[in-house]
Parts: sequence; structure tokens; C-alpha cells
Amino acid sequence: MTDTSCEQSTRPLEQVLGQRVVTTLVRADQVELGDFVDSADGLIRVREIVQRPQYWTLAGDPPGQAFRVAFHPNGESPAPRTQVIHRRNCTVRVRRGVSRFGRLTGHSKRVTSHNPVKRGMYTLVDGYNSACSCGWKSSTVHKSKHRAGEAWLGHKAGQLTEAAYAANSALLLIATTEIVHPQLPPVPWYFTNTARGDRRHGHGIATADLKDLPVDQARAVLAAWRQVLGLTVDEAHSWDKDKSAGGIVHTLRGPRRRLDDMRLSLNGERGERLILQAAYETALKAEETAANTAPWQDAPE
Ligand SMILES: [Zn+2]
Repeated sequence: MTDTSCEQSTRPLEQVLGQRVVTTLVRADQVELGDFVDSADGLIRVREIVQRPQYWTLAGDPPGQAFRVAFHPNGESPAPRTQVIHRRNCTVRVRRGVSRFGRLTGHSKRVTSHNPVKRGMYTLVDGYNSACSCGWKSSTVHKSKHRAGEAWLGHKAGQLTEAAYAANSALLLIATTEIVHPQLPPVPWYFTNTARGDRRHGHGIATADLKDLPVDQARAVLAAWRQVLGLTVDEAHSWDKDKSAGGIVHTLRGPRRRLDDMRLSLNGERGERLILQAAYETALKAEETAANTAPWQDAPE
């Protein structure tokens, strides 16, 4: 993966934020106001975070449509257009302006005058070179120090993004797929790693649960990703089964009827795994509940 590919995927956001954008992975409880996160409606810029003991709600608006926060005497503002709910300790992808990142070890800015010539008491320069202590060098001569500094920030954003891709191969697969197939429906991914510290370092899993979408929409999203990436239907899940055939399942909330249960997965060549799932359940009628209660569950009175 080169710097160019991440530039392509984040370019509209760079226009919105007016600076280079980093793609990285953070825990849901480390998402900050102003970050862009994935939702089933596409990218949203977070402007409300609701913290509960287990689940955090990240709410916001699509980039470019963000509500302009104007001074209002009673502090009223329209509700965010869309939201996504994650467990607080699960890892999600965020896009964040590079200026909000601190020092990056091994990378310090080297901006120097290009071709300086002494003329009396003045030094004339032909522009500025931008380079980094890691050995990176900008291929162009920049008109101003500021431009040269911006070029280095672009390099820094690229390095931070590359580090996130290296840490989770599923993130890399998704980012690459989105560039090649921009029409793919957006999905609220969350990420885990298969193992840390051993030879499988960097092998990642990306999961998306679509059960908050209407069932037909979830089917359409799964079908689109299946077609592009060749995800396969997991055994025991009823992608093509008749809806009415759904049986009784025992859940933490008691026995429920499973209406639809779809699950696609893919094992990629760099150890990555993608999982797209949606399970729809409904409560049973009172008489069915008593008849179907599992031995470890108390039937409701
Ligand atoms: Zn560098």
C-alpha cells in the first residue's frame, strides 16, 4: 500500500477538514468529537457521544452536511442525522485530522531552503525542500515554508495510516476494496486482532452486525459485499432458507423465534477475516415461551 491509495480514499475529507487525514483504529471510548466514523449510512462526523456502562453511541452527520454550530442562546441544535452504537471497548476505524496527532517517533520535519544564493545582505532562495528524518523526501520544490511543512504533514499522515493497516490486515483489505469498488454499501465495521505478539501479528478480523437495518436492506448489503469479495455463506446460517422456517433460539433474553439469520465470511490471503452478519429475532407468544424455556432459564410468571 502506498501513500497514494490512502490519499484517494480520504481526499473529500481533506477538503472538509482543510488538512491531511489519518485513518487509524481506536477503541470506541476513545473516539473524539470531530472524528469521522463508519456507519450504515456512510461516514459520519461525530458531534454527540452518549456514554453508557457497556455501549457508546456515536452520532453525527455525513461529511459536508455537518451542522454548522452557530451561537444559540439556549444551546439548541438539530439532532444528528445518524448514529452508530458500539461496545465501548471494541475497536473502530476513525478518520482524524493529522494536526491532532502528537510527535511520531522516528519522523521529524526537515524543511530547508532550495538553492540559496547570497546577494549582499539578502539570501535569495528558489523555494523550499521538504524531507523527514526517516529518509523520506518530497519530490517537488515548494513555493513557501508553509507548503513544504504541509507536504511533510502529508508524509506523516501516510505513515500513521500505514501503521494502522500493518496492525490489522482486515482494515487494509476493506480500505483497498472501498477504493476499487466505491459503490459498495457502507458498513459499520469493528475490528479485532487474531493474536498479538506472535507470528500472526497484524492478522485482523473485521465484523459488521447489520441487524439494526431493515431485513431487506441488510440482505442487499450482504449481497453486494458477497458479489465483490466472494464471501461465502457460513454453514448453519439461512441465507437462502425460507424465512418462515426460522426456529426457536435460546438467547440471554429468553427463548425467541429466529426470523432470519444471515452470515457471510471470508478468509483472506494475509490472514484477515471479514464477517458480515444479521440475526433477526422476535419474542414468542406467552404459551410458546413456557413450552420452549431452556432448562437453565426460568419461565416468566
Ligand atoms: Zn518520516
